[in-house]
Amino acid sequence: MSMTILIVDDSGVMRAMILKTIRMSGLPVGKVLQAANGQEGLAALRANPVDLLLVDINMPVMNGEEMIERMQADPGLREVPTIVISTEGSEKRITSLKSKGVRFVHKPFSPEMIRDAVRQLIPSGGNDG
Ligand SMILES: [Mg+2]
Repeated sequence: MSMTILIVDDSGVMRAMILKTIRMSGLPVGKVLQAANGQEGLAALRANPVDLLLVDINMPVMNGEEMIERMQADPGLREVPTIVISTEGSEKRITSLKSKGVRFVHKPFSPEMIRDAVRQLIPSGGNDG
């Protein structure tokens, strides 16, 4: 079963790089949605069923941390498997994010890092079929 993926990052170049990396990771990618900030990301989540969210932290309008907090407050969105992909270096902030049930992948990232994070979040998600 292929996954519908939402990539939220304020850099179009970074979104393209994340998408390319996910495709290289061998994960079954289906529909791909993109958003440039947390507000657009929430709108995309509310309009589409999403199997996997990949979200940046530092973005204008609404950052990734606030987007995740709003998702947690919404019973319809709080179960969406989420991976934060960021250059964030603050251990405190990373720990706080992980306590919300999200996975954290540092930029720069490899296909293996993304694939492993997805498999930890969605045990069956990394398998074809
Ligand atoms: Mg950013």
